[in-house]
Amino acid sequence: MLHLKCCAEITPWDHDENVGQGFLNAWRIATMAKCQRCGKGTQFGNNRPWSRKATRRNWQINVQKVTVFENGRAVSKKLCASCIKSLTKA
Ligand SMILES: [Zn+2]
Repeated sequence: MLHLKCCAEITPWDHDENVGQGFLNAWRIATMAKCQRCGKGTQFGNNRPWSRKATRRNWQINVQKVTVFENGRAVSKKLCASCIKSLTKA
C-alpha cells in the first residue's frame, strides 16, 4: 500500500493527466500568436451565427515578423500590427 503510493508520486505521466487536454489546447492557442512588445495574444469571444447559437471562437492577432533596431543592433521580433504602426509613426 505504502509502496504503491510512493510509485504513483514519482511517475512522470501523472503530471500529464493533471494538466489535461483543455489546458494543452489553451497553451497551444496562447503560443500561436503573441506580440513581443505589448504582450497582446489571441482574443477570445463567441461565434454568433444567424441562429444566435453561441459557440466559443478565438481570433488570431495580426502578428508580423519585423526587424527593429534596439541599442544600435538589428533584432528580429514578432510584433502586432498596432505596435508596428506606433513604431513607424514615431
Ligand atoms: Zn503589440
